Amino acid sequence: MAAADTPQTQTGVPKTSNGPAGQYDKKCIFCKIVNNEIGTELLHCDEDISCFRDIRPGAPHHYLVVPTRHIGNCKSLSKEHVPLVKRMVETGKKVLQKNNVTDLSDIRLGFHWPPFCSVAHLHLHVLAPASQMGFTSRLFYRLNSYWFITADQLIELLTLKEETS
Ligand SMILES: [Zn+2]
Ligand SMILES: [Zn+2]
Repeated sequence: MAAADTPQTQTGVPKTSNGPAGQYDKKCIFCKIVNNEIGTELLHCDEDISCFRDIRPGAPHHYLVVPTRHIGNCKSLSKEHVPLVKRMVETGKKVLQKNNVTDLSDIRLGFHWPPFCSVAHLHLHVLAPASQMGFTSRLFYRLNSYWFITADQLIELLTLKEETS
């Protein structure tokens, strides 16, 4: 996020911290995971993005991609978060490829829509192969439902947000 590129920022827009210390929520399980406090294996970790396995896999491959700094759910995002969401998607695909998932057309990438989030820290679900998801996960990560939104849909929504508000 380029600090020089300042759109019409109004009051009420969440401030983003660019400091290396970042935001850390003491009560947040995902903050603990990305800070290596729990011993969960990090499949990817950099200043902005981290990735680890979902503890309850809904498909043979099920990863969670999260911002390394605490950011709340999809509802709290704005247009300025589009690059971050895109990077989360890229990271998810890279981790899949590292784990020998070659068919990137048979995957599901998306977010739970509030209040259907078990953890408040923004997280992208990455599932593959989508065709091997069981009944319950098909329901949990269902396309065009009011509780799950694909990464593409979220990006579209955030892009539109600026024009309407
Ligand atoms: Zn957190
Ligand atoms: Zn979720």
